[in-house]
Parts: sequence; C-alpha cells; structure tokens
Amino acid sequence: MADKNTNKVMDKLVSLAKRRGFIFQSSEIYGGINSCYDYGPLGVEMKKNIKELWWKSMVYERDDIEGLDASILMHPKVWEASGHMAGFSDPLVDCKVCKSRFRADQIDLEKPCPVCGNRDSFTEIRQFNLMFKTFMGPVEDSAHVVFLRPETAQGIYVNFHNVREAARRKLPFGIAQIGKAFRNEITPGNFIFRTREFEQMEMQYFVKPGEDEKWFEYWKEKRMQWYQRLGLQKDKLRFHEHAPDELAHYAKAAFDIEYEFPFGWNEIEGIHNRTDFDLSRHQEFSGKDLRYFDDQTKERFIPYIIETSIGCDRTLLTCLVDAYTEEEERVVLKLSPAIAPIKAAVLPLVKRDGMPEIAKKIVDEIRGDYRIFYDEAGSIGRRYRRMDEAGTPFCITVDSQTLEDKTVTVRERDTMAQERVHINEIKTYLDEKLKA
Ligand SMILES: [Zn+2]
Repeated sequence: MADKNTNKVMDKLVSLAKRRGFIFQSSEIYGGINSCYDYGPLGVEMKKNIKELWWKSMVYERDDIEGLDASILMHPKVWEASGHMAGFSDPLVDCKVCKSRFRADQIDLEKPCPVCGNRDSFTEIRQFNLMFKTFMGPVEDSAHVVFLRPETAQGIYVNFHNVREAARRKLPFGIAQIGKAFRNEITPGNFIFRTREFEQMEMQYFVKPGEDEKWFEYWKEKRMQWYQRLGLQKDKLRFHEHAPDELAHYAKAAFDIEYEFPFGWNEIEGIHNRTDFDLSRHQEFSGKDLRYFDDQTKERFIPYIIETSIGCDRTLLTCLVDAYTEEEERVVLKLSPAIAPIKAAVLPLVKRDGMPEIAKKIVDEIRGDYRIFYDEAGSIGRRYRRMDEAGTPFCITVDSQTLEDKTVTVRERDTMAQERVHINEIKTYLDEKLKA
C-alpha cells in the first residue's frame, strides 16, 4: 500500500508543512520526540479555523447542543466504568536480543525478528494498556494513580445531569466538546495521522430509547455534509460500516467516515450508537441515579447516546492532503478559504513610489477579524508562490494604477484570475468571499 509514490507525496507535504510553518517536530533541537508535533504560525491558525467551523456547525447554528470543557484528569473510577481499565490495550512482544518492541498482531511471531533477524527471540505476549498513567500529588503509589484521558467523551457522560439541569434541557439534546486526549500508541505514525497526544472534537447526543436509530441516520448524513463544507473532494470520502465482529462492546451500530489518503482509505470520523451503555455503567459505578425523567410520559429511563467523534489533528492532515496540488510552475494548497491560515496577503508591487505605505495602510484597515500578511520582499512572482504554498486565497497588490485610481489587483489563488477592487471595498470583498 505504501509504495514509493505515496511516500513521495507525504514526504513533500511534511517538508512543506515545516518550510511554511504549519507543523514542526516537537523538541526538534534535541532530536525530536517520537510522534509529537508542534503547530507553527500557520498550523495554529488553520487548527483554530477547523475547530471554529466545527463549533459553529455543532453549537451556534443549532438550538439543541450545549458546549463543555471538562478536565483532562478525572476520577480513576471513570476509567473502570468506561471499560478502559480492563479492555483498552494492545498485545505486545519484545525482542529479547535487540529490545525492539512490536504489536503482536502486526508481525509474524513464527518468523525472525524484523529488526535484528534473530529467531525465537520474542517474549511472551502481554497486554499493554494504552492509557498514560501519572500520579496526583507528591506520593507515587497506587493510591495516587491518575490517567490522562484517552477520550473526551467520558467528561461529557459524567456531566450529563449537570448540563441538563443548568441549561434546562429536554431530550433530545447534545453536548459538544473540543479537547486534548492521550493514547500511548505502540505504533503511531503517518505524520500527524496517529499521534499519542491529540485533540478531539466530540459531540454526544442524548435521545430516548427507540428514537436512537432515527438520530443515528440523521447524524451520519449531517456529519458527511460537514466535510463538503470543509472543502474536501467528494469522491475521496466514503462511509464504512462496522460489521458485527468489528463493533466495539458498547455499540449497537457504527459508521466511519473514511478519506482516501496517499497511504490508503482511513477513518477520519466515527459515528456510533452507544446505546445506554455509558450512562448505565456510570450509574452502576458511581451509585448516582443517571436516569432521565420524561415529564410527559412520567417514565424514568437511561438515555441512549449517539456519538460523533473526530480528531482535529487528523482533520487538519486530511485538509492538507486534499489541498496539496502540484501544477506546472507552482505548488499550491487549495484550502477552503474558511480554514486557510492567512486570508489575504497585501503586497506592494515595488518598494518605492509610496506603494509600501499604501499597502501598510490597507493592512491596518482590514486586519482585526482574521490573519492578514504583509510582504514586500522579492519579486511579485515569488511572493505569489509563497502565498500559494501557504494556501492564502487572496493576494492584494498595490501597483502604479493604485496611485491613479485607488484600485488594487486582487488575485485569486486557484484560478490566478485577477480583478480590480477599490481600496474602500476590500474589507467587504473579503468578508463576502470568506463566509463559510
Ligand atoms: Zn530483534
């Protein structure tokens, strides 16, 4: 699957991401740390734009979803109730000779060690829990163990009644959350596709049992539509339904939304019918009544949950992969204007005749709502290319005609078409074009 050509595309993307300031290796001056990445000036903008677009579609544009920001460290019993203590593990073997570590289900244990070539050098298979463990307070003993959350969902479940009461909600309603999660993956990889520290965007939708299948279908469609809004190519997206033997222990039905990466089709979002599993378990482990009282039917029951779960870092990678385009004379990131890190660059054609002054004045007038970039270094052609690689949708150039009639050239990134816009109209022009 990972042939030379696909590696080439990923290599080029990784190099562009570093060169333009999207993504750096974490702690690079110390040789880096495996599977950890830092978002640079452009990466942080793009990530913020993706999160805002998700939040907008989940919370602002609806009247049935509330937001939440739960803490990363939670009571250890949460992970007993969720099943992560017992079941969240990978089978692991070590090579006794070279000390290399492998996932037992990813290599052939009958064959020699793929690193050192020795035979019969593997240890027994043991289960390795994927949760990051640490200690709360100064005493490092088993009574003080806490975990970095492996998913944000549990913070939502344990706050079901808090949010419901505070926001005076009736079923159906949802709770949305964006936050970091941590999984001690044995084999992370493919750049930021699978990392040990990552950011999730999860929404848990609480419904009456019996209405779950209807809402599951609803969210499936709704979430697929969101990717078109994100600007992804339609033919690179598909659903993958989990067969009965693929289903997680808590799920009644599950669909992945998959994207066709250079390294194959892979999951970018999961939509799950989690039934009443989560709230039932937390009711059992906490001893608190987590049932919902329906004041019309006078019934008490545990709500079903439809979950939509997506990784922010993975979405960002998907958008970069989708946007990466090599043309004859340039490399261009055809990012949707809604998520592009820099919305517009203002460029004086030459560094004289008062053009830089006019350009800087334009920057002063239009900045504030989004990232604007000023650049006067190098030929105009080179400056356009730099902005193409950064995915900047619009370049505004001050030239000699500007001095006469106060119009500027606006160049559109993908078509490279140019039009003249009056200086006073630039802000309105951009606002209109950048609407998501
Ligand atoms: Zn070995």
